[in-house]
Amino acid sequence: AKVKEVEFVKSSNKPKDCPKDERPEFAMLGRSNVGKSSLINALVKKKEVALTSKKPGKTQLINHFLVNKSWYIVDLPGYGFANASEAARMDWSSFTKGYFLNRDTLVSVLLLIDASVPPQKIDLDCANWLGRNKIPITFVFTKCDKMKGGKAKRPDQNIRDFQELIRQNYNHQPPWIMISSVSGLGRDELLLHMSQLRNY
Ligand code: GDP
Repeated sequence: AKVKEVEFVKSSNKPKDCPKDERPEFAMLGRSNVGKSSLINALVKKKEVALTSKKPGKTQLINHFLVNKSWYIVDLPGYGFANASEAARMDWSSFTKGYFLNRDTLVSVLLLIDASVPPQKIDLDCANWLGRNKIPITFVFTKCDKMKGGKAKRPDQNIRDFQELIRQNYNHQPPWIMISSVSGLGRDELLLHMSQLRNY
């Protein structure tokens, strides 16, 4: 499960413009600031690759990156920006929901969850929506290196709390993984997980 080559293929602004070549893909999704760009860069070990906009919510684009000419990492717009209105959230959701519900080559959504903060309602809502729609997910807990931090709980406790809330709505436990783009924790394991899912 090595990344030998990564190529930016295209940005699509609607699901039907996405590549049509049937290669399997993994969609990266999470709250703005969850560490998505950092993870993509860590996975591909190439700083220039993730060309996503740093302005949350500004561009609503589905970005396809082709790995080893055989599978895609898909960067989706972040959700849950501070101050986002209900209307803005609905915009995000109609855009992205269209992608999830119609993308046959989607192997799994990598749902990024910030392990340095307690469970957030918007992440639980997103996980539950994906679950209800039978879209396979993998929880990717980010920032697991953040072990200190005054009043905030530790990542392992935040993860347990999150999983407990998920258990109330799911009848199975989706796969999950702890990562840190700073220390490199979980990177190889995540690549292996994706390779196992592709060959399944
Ligand atoms: P994005 O908005 O989801 O693409 O998030 P970014 O990758 O831009 O990261 C948001 C912030 O979190 C930045 O300040 C990063 O330096 C920080 N960050 C991202 N990943 C990690 C991580 O694994 N550990 C720590 N400690 N900070 C991280």
